[in-house]
Amino acid sequence: MDDLLVRGGHVIDGTGAPGRDADVAILDGRIVAVEPRSARPARRVIDARGHAVAPGFIDIHTHSDFTLPLNPRAESKIRQGVTLEVTGNCGFSVAPALPGKAAMLREYLASSAPWLPFGETSYAGYVAAFPPTAVNVILQVGHNTLRLMTTGLDNRPATADELHAMERLLGEALAAGARGLSSGLFTVPGHFADAGEIHALARVLRRGGGMYSTHVRDEAGGVFDAVREAIGVAESTGVHVQIAHLKLSGTDSWGGARRLLDEIDAARRRGLPVDCDAYPYDTASNPLRNLLPRWVMEGGIPAMLERLGRRDVRERIRRDVAAGGLTNFGRIPSWDVVRVAISPRLPDNAGRTLGDVARARGLDPIDAVCDYLVEDRGETRILITSMSEDDVWAITAAPWVLVGSDGNALATAGVTSQGKPHPRFYGTHARVLGPCVRELRLLRLEQAVHKMTGASARALGLADRGVLRPGAWADVAVFDPARIADQATYEEPHRYARGVSTVVVNGQVVVDGGDHTGALPGRVLTRNS
Ligand SMILES: [Zn+2]
Repeated sequence: MDDLLVRGGHVIDGTGAPGRDADVAILDGRIVAVEPRSARPARRVIDARGHAVAPGFIDIHTHSDFTLPLNPRAESKIRQGVTLEVTGNCGFSVAPALPGKAAMLREYLASSAPWLPFGETSYAGYVAAFPPTAVNVILQVGHNTLRLMTTGLDNRPATADELHAMERLLGEALAAGARGLSSGLFTVPGHFADAGEIHALARVLRRGGGMYSTHVRDEAGGVFDAVREAIGVAESTGVHVQIAHLKLSGTDSWGGARRLLDEIDAARRRGLPVDCDAYPYDTASNPLRNLLPRWVMEGGIPAMLERLGRRDVRERIRRDVAAGGLTNFGRIPSWDVVRVAISPRLPDNAGRTLGDVARARGLDPIDAVCDYLVEDRGETRILITSMSEDDVWAITAAPWVLVGSDGNALATAGVTSQGKPHPRFYGTHARVLGPCVRELRLLRLEQAVHKMTGASARALGLADRGVLRPGAWADVAVFDPARIADQATYEEPHRYARGVSTVVVNGQVVVDGGDHTGALPGRVLTRNS
């Protein structure tokens, strides 16, 4: 007798093929049959009439390693049908934290992971201590973290010894279960690495069967060169490259999406192992300090805070921003498009724009930003509306661009319910499947599902997930195609998506009738699992 039979639904199998009416039978964590009007007996039957039945969705770019230890039920993700989160992105990972360096790592990541406890740990210790979660998890090790452990926040090339140390730490992480290396070349200290350093680490990845994902060096004026740098890693090392949250930031870059997509598509047609992902929003999120020129952070956070108080430093920031726009985000119309998301020491400001803060204080915006950073010890996280909608929809509509929320698994109660985070943390996949398919007609439903299932599994090298077929792992999402939608807004981000009724992870029901069962059947998917 089977464990589960999902009966009467419209199966969208994840391959991109047209949907068909069929039942899905599950036994011992695996799919055992996908067939019309199945007569197989099962301990439990789930009525899926009127609903779509798809493979569980893959969120290929997240930072949920910052929150899953605090919210292992992964509420904001699982309630959208997400069953696998790829974590450790943009060069940020919470391990390894070498002896004596945990406090520095905590300080560095505080604007992204304000509530997570940090302790010294090897990567193997980190993997061993990772908690049971509702979703499956892929872990990566971050290049910023490796550089922090070896060269700190110094603005210089790594020495030969430091590079060897990074290679060794990367090798250890891969052996312990990390699936790859992520970089965040847009920010320090990753930005101080040249292409040679990344290629050396990519060669470690090639030897160990790992993958490379990258938040490229510049998403504004230099985005074409930055994307070419990422493609170059695939070209010269053969390692799979995942370009994160593809976007064109800053008004000077607006309108370039099709040209950028054509360039990546051309590399793929040449046979290079390159994929990219995006979230369907025109607003990005980052630590506020990352918007300033990179030299502001040289030498570490305490040095930055001391520097920001000085009049001459502020003048230099003003000049740099006037000349080249904000770091990674380019030119913005005004500071009214920058909104405080989470501000650990000034929590009442969540939701306010920096333009508003400056006016209320009677200050020039750069002075207001510098004051604010000092008061919040550099830990402020912001939302910035820096993209054009036309570019965002062009990228979302490309059937080969995968779906990554760039967001953490949160919950509407408990420690992760604080502040006003980006609504993409709650809504990315539901927004693509609902509004982007039904209202904007950017994609057919089968294409939208394929992006976040079969195509993502292929990019990750997962042979037995992302598709509904006998033998595959039973990660399944049942949803109402007419109703599925994101509900989170910038004003009220802590709202679960709607329209997903049942979610199964490794054969166990985690969302049942739209509610979380409390089950934590997820596992860390290592390269050998
Ligand atoms: Zn990023």
